[in-house]
Amino acid sequence: MKEETQILQSIAVDPHTGAVSTPIYQTATFVHEQPGVTKGFDYSRTNNPTRQVLEKLLATLEGGYAGFAFSSGVAAIDAVVKLLKAGDEIVAVDDIYGGTFRLFEKIYSRFGIQVRYTDTTCLENVQDAFTDKTRMVWLETPTNPNLRISDIQAIARLAHQRQALLTVDNTFASPVVQKPLHWGADIVVHSATKYLAGHCDVIAGAVIVKSPELADEIKFIQNASGAILGPFDSWLTIRGIETLALRLERSSTNALRIAHFLENHPAVEQVNYPGLPSHPQHELAARQQRLFGGVISFTLKSQKKDEATRFVSSTTLFNLTDSIGGVKSSISHPVSMSHKAMDPEARKKAGITDTLIRISVGIEYADDLIEDLERSLNKLRHISKTQQLITP
Ligand code: PLP
Repeated sequence: MKEETQILQSIAVDPHTGAVSTPIYQTATFVHEQPGVTKGFDYSRTNNPTRQVLEKLLATLEGGYAGFAFSSGVAAIDAVVKLLKAGDEIVAVDDIYGGTFRLFEKIYSRFGIQVRYTDTTCLENVQDAFTDKTRMVWLETPTNPNLRISDIQAIARLAHQRQALLTVDNTFASPVVQKPLHWGADIVVHSATKYLAGHCDVIAGAVIVKSPELADEIKFIQNASGAILGPFDSWLTIRGIETLALRLERSSTNALRIAHFLENHPAVEQVNYPGLPSHPQHELAARQQRLFGGVISFTLKSQKKDEATRFVSSTTLFNLTDSIGGVKSSISHPVSMSHKAMDPEARKKAGITDTLIRISVGIEYADDLIEDLERSLNKLRHISKTQQLITP
């Protein structure tokens, strides 16, 4: 069965009522028929029927043993880090989501967990960053915001040789684009706020694991730490997932056209999009991913930060927001927005420059989006020329 059919088929009709839309079980607690005898649910932090439908769907989507829904992507990441203990180390991709970096550096460093960052596009770097304390490798591929691609299969092999787990933050790809567990990863995390839910109307997170042992551990952490996704937000996420494949196909087609347009525009210095043959890991992306995804980043020829901020504020069809993965296109300036929490040295190392711009391409008509970007880029060129004229 193809994925599009599988997604819809795995959202079962409610067995109790025949409802085709999953019922929202907005309840904190469930009646015991006798003390200790329940219908499988006793308290919604531990388990809830609406969340359970979503969790099974997440496992199906990623080809995992079990899925878990959290109150945010960061809560999902937090639950995975809790698999570790003081003294353990993580080897992580250096071009990492700023909030993950903040969690590692400002919270988990206090609990004795050290993270070594490296450019994971190069296997030797990952090898070199390993110590005898490394217990986990943390990847984002494609990365946020530079869209770098790491070889999941090769890194999984390396991690397993050293008895470490491989976790992949699959937020930027989504399971329709790439399935890390298929390539050997042990754990997948998502900010479900992005592509999974898809409409910028819910904050949610997901963890999907490969094995029953990891499922038991994450289930324990989810219940013990308590950052679960509520029933209504679970329902919104299920509804979003119903159109995931359709949305990703449209966004990816639009993004490829926009990436080609940007690459040929004179005000643009460099375009980062795995679908472009000029991308350094284009061939790997073509092998590892089913689609190239909806996120593009690019730098301006101008080195001036204020030109980048002016540009991101001047488009009309792209909302200036931190988030990605919604049906509507959005634009951001990572240095001032999503990656503000990262210290300047780490930012520089990760190639997050002052004129780097990230766009998340939605499902609008591609020509309209290109026209909008062109208008704003041309304005920028006009300003630069005027400035050149008045600056001796
Ligand atoms: N992972 C990635 C790659 C992200 O981009 C984000 C948020 O932007 C997160 C995790 C955190 O997710 P949330 O905002 O849902 O907590």
